[in-house]
Amino acid sequence: MTTYPTLKMLIDGEWIATGHGGSMAVVNPATGAEIGQCPKASPAQLDAALKAADDAFAGWSRTPGAERYAILRRAADLLRERAPAIAAVITAEMGKPRAQAVGEITGSTDVIDFLGEEAKRKGGRLIPSRGQQLIAQMVTHEPVGPSVLLTPWNFPVNLPAKKIAGALAAGCTAILKPAENTPASAQLLVECFVDAGVPKGVLNLVYGDPGPVSEHLIASPVTRKVSFTGSTAVGKQLGALAASHMKRFTPELGGHAPVIVSRHADLERAVAMCAATKFRNAGQVCVSPTRFLVDKTIYDRFVAEFAERTGKLKVGDPGADDSVDMGPLAHGRRIAAMEQVVADVGGNRGEVVTGGAVIPGKGFFFQPTVIANPAPDSRFMTEEPFGPIAGIVPYDTIEDAVRIANSLRYGLAAYAFSGNLDEAHYLGRALRAGMVGINQLIVASPETPFGGVGDSGFGSEGGEEGYLAFTDTKLVMMAKA
Ligand code: NAD
Repeated sequence: MTTYPTLKMLIDGEWIATGHGGSMAVVNPATGAEIGQCPKASPAQLDAALKAADDAFAGWSRTPGAERYAILRRAADLLRERAPAIAAVITAEMGKPRAQAVGEITGSTDVIDFLGEEAKRKGGRLIPSRGQQLIAQMVTHEPVGPSVLLTPWNFPVNLPAKKIAGALAAGCTAILKPAENTPASAQLLVECFVDAGVPKGVLNLVYGDPGPVSEHLIASPVTRKVSFTGSTAVGKQLGALAASHMKRFTPELGGHAPVIVSRHADLERAVAMCAATKFRNAGQVCVSPTRFLVDKTIYDRFVAEFAERTGKLKVGDPGADDSVDMGPLAHGRRIAAMEQVVADVGGNRGEVVTGGAVIPGKGFFFQPTVIANPAPDSRFMTEEPFGPIAGIVPYDTIEDAVRIANSLRYGLAAYAFSGNLDEAHYLGRALRAGMVGINQLIVASPETPFGGVGDSGFGSEGGEEGYLAFTDTKLVMMAKA
């Protein structure tokens, strides 16, 4: 039985259980049962968090990078030690199977380590000067300032970990507002940073209704940077607000990743990887492989094998059974969204080959679903499903496949399988996306940048870019006295 922690905000080093803005229930999506009450910050409490981040900035930004690294390194170690307990809370809050939750946490520790090390590595650069009098042109990376971090529920430890580590490593202070349905996962992560020695005020944690809280934090003159992961629609709203206050903004938004499977691909390997990866986290992953574009000569085999593997997935309550492949969707809104996608196919607009229905009973369960040949203008082909639905479309030529792949405004991840080297290089170049995976479906590692183009956002998290995203570039030109 998971012990669900008492939810508390962290403001200026104090853990605060009472939200003056009220409270909201947290529900286990596998059972529908309430597991906790989450305090909601009042505007005055948000202002206290902003003041704390502002006050702490001078000291933290001047703390040597090696000291910031040492604290982040300890936080990563604590997170590693606490992984089993925190994984159980992730599962209870958003329904991810236990092994996937542990994997999320392990990946987060590596991200914190890497970004912490960047605090020791990232210098600036010296540019040769043009004149005799100028003796130095120095470019440095200065911490941008107090940063607001807004994170969703699908990776409730990893996404806050990336943003916190990038901000703190670069010398910024931060206020984290995690998703309203996964507060404890974020709280247990923040506890690791506090226990590792992050000084008071450097990292703050607040909860509340996302719209009003985000607007309050972004509009504050204290805030210098906003980092948001979530939907394109909300990203556009928050980006407009950040721009109106001239704040730095990094949006990591939705995606609808295409996967091109060429006639030169190893079909067995491709179909096995695609069917396993598509339903990870119940498809609620921004880089989830989703629109499968398959050469017409291998299309029927691909559909049959993909559907067969999908039909064998074990769906159930991951809190009660560690062997389930797929848990519930994170909340009821996602179920309604899946139903709308499926309702828009049928007849000559595509065929549901397997799945397609809500699983009755408690919790928010939807069958792993495969749609064959969805119409080009169907909801599935045009809107991010963000759930356990895959669609498979035949194509005639590789150029047609690229055209379909690039036809949406999203551009986060794209994938391709081909054993032909020239074709693989062509696909790597031609696919319009921030990240392209060739012959495999992984596009994230601690050392590499993660981000999209078009309606999927801009800028990157992860890699050195994840550190630089929290810095301003400064030039000092020095002449002889
Ligand atoms: P949603 O838009 O209601 O919520 C998604 C996230 O955005 C939540 O964490 C929520 O706290 C936050 N949010 C919502 N309104 C906000 C606002 N006005 N200001 C600030 N934050 C706000 O959608 P949902 O049904 O919970 O999730 C599905 C959608 O969210 C999908 O379209 C998907 O693209 C997107 N999403 C994307 C990612 C990602 O990794 N890029 C993660 C989770 C959700």
